[in-house]
Amino acid sequence: MKSEDLFKEAKNYLPGGVDSPVRAIKPYPFFAIKGEGPRLFDVDGNSYLDYCLAYGPLVLGHAYPPVMEAVSKQLSMGTAYGVPTENEIKLAKEVVRRVPCAEMVRFVNSGTEATMSAIRLARAVTGKSKIVKFEGAYHGAHDYVLVKSGSGAFGLPDSPGVPEETTKNTLLVPFNDEEAITSLVGKEKEELAAIILEPVMGNVGCIPPKKGFLEFLRKITAENNIILIFDEVITGFRIAEGGAQEYFGVTPDLVTFGKILGGGFPIGALAGKREFMERIAPAGDVYQAGTFNGNPISITAGLETMKHLDKDFYQAMNVKGLEMRRGLENILEDASLNYPVAGLSSMFQIYFTDNEVWDYSQAKSADTEKFNSYFQTLLGSGVFIPPSQFECCFLSQAHSSEDIQKTLEAMEKGIKTL
Ligand code: PMP
Repeated sequence: MKSEDLFKEAKNYLPGGVDSPVRAIKPYPFFAIKGEGPRLFDVDGNSYLDYCLAYGPLVLGHAYPPVMEAVSKQLSMGTAYGVPTENEIKLAKEVVRRVPCAEMVRFVNSGTEATMSAIRLARAVTGKSKIVKFEGAYHGAHDYVLVKSGSGAFGLPDSPGVPEETTKNTLLVPFNDEEAITSLVGKEKEELAAIILEPVMGNVGCIPPKKGFLEFLRKITAENNIILIFDEVITGFRIAEGGAQEYFGVTPDLVTFGKILGGGFPIGALAGKREFMERIAPAGDVYQAGTFNGNPISITAGLETMKHLDKDFYQAMNVKGLEMRRGLENILEDASLNYPVAGLSSMFQIYFTDNEVWDYSQAKSADTEKFNSYFQTLLGSGVFIPPSQFECCFLSQAHSSEDIQKTLEAMEKGIKTL
C-alpha cells in the first residue's frame, strides 16, 4: 500500500503527516494522484466519487476543462506580478454584480485572511473591540476566532499559543438562539464591534438558520452600531449566485469569501459597503496587504469559474442536492432510523443522532463512532466524504444522477452495517 508507506514517511517531515489536521484520516489517508470530474484517484490505483471536493471549492468538479485552459494560458504569461491586472477589476465587478452587500472587494489568499481582515475592519469602523461568534462556527485558524466552542466558557483559548488577552474579546453564543444574543447585546453593546457567522453552519455538519434568525441578527446589529459579517467562505457562490444573502434575502455589512471564488486555487476576499471598504489601505487607514493578493492564477481561475455559475447552474445543483437528501431520507426510513438529513442546495450531511440539530450542542450529540463506521464503509465502496461527522458534504456539477445513485447504494450499505 503506497498510501500507507507515504503516510509513514510523511510523519517524519510534516507534523502529523499532513498540512492541515482534518486530512489525517485514520488509520492513514489515501494519497491523491489525480482529480477528474467527480472523482479522485489515489497512488494505489483506487478511485473515489468525491463529496469532499477539497472542502468545497470544486463546485464544477476536478480539473474542469475551461478553467484548466484559462489557467494554462495565464501560466504561460507569468504567475505573479506585484502590480495590478485588469482581471482583478473584472472579478471584483462580478462579485459586486452578484452579491447584495458587495460594493467593493479586497482579494486575499485564504478564508482565514479574509475573516481576520473583516474583523479588523469592523473594529476600526466601530471603534469597538469585542466580537461575537457562534459556538461551533469556524472562521479560519487565526487568533481572533480560534475560541473554544460549545463549552460556553467565554474567552478561553482553543489552542496553546493563543493569548487570553486576544480571545477575551471573542464572545460565544449558541447558533439560532435569539434570547442569548438579545441578552449579550444588551450587556455588551457599547463594546461589540461585530457579529460574525456562517449563515449556514458548515463546520459542524450542516445547520441552516431558523426562519427569521438572520433577519433578527440584521435588526439587532443595525440598532446597536454592530457590524454584521456573513462568513460565506462555504456558502458564497455555492447556494445561489449571490450566496446566502441572496438565498435568505438578508444583507450583511461585510462578507468574506474563499474556496469557490478561486476556482480551485488559493483565494480569499472581503467585500461590503463602500463606506467601510474605503477604510482599507491604501484608500484608508486599516492595514491589509499580501504578496499574492489578487494573484493572476487564482483570479483567472475564479473569473472563468464564475462564467459557469449562472441561474441554470444553481437550479441543477438544487435538483442534485434534493436527489441526494431524499435518497438518504428513504434509506434511513427503510432502516427505521430517525437521523436527521441536513442540508440545502448542494450541501448535505446525516447526523447520527435522534435529536434535531439546530446548534453545536445538539450536533455534538451525534454518535461519531457510527459516523466513522459509515465513513469507512463508504471509502471501501469508492465514495469519499469528509472524514468527520462535523464537516459538510458537497456536490459538484460533475456528479451525474448515476453517480448519486451509486453513492446512495454505498450509503445504504454503510447505514445497514452499523
Ligand atoms: N470560514 C469558513 C466558513 C470556512 O469553512 C473556512 C475553511 N473551511 C474558513 C473560513 C477558512 O478558510 P481557509 O481554510 O481558506 O483559510
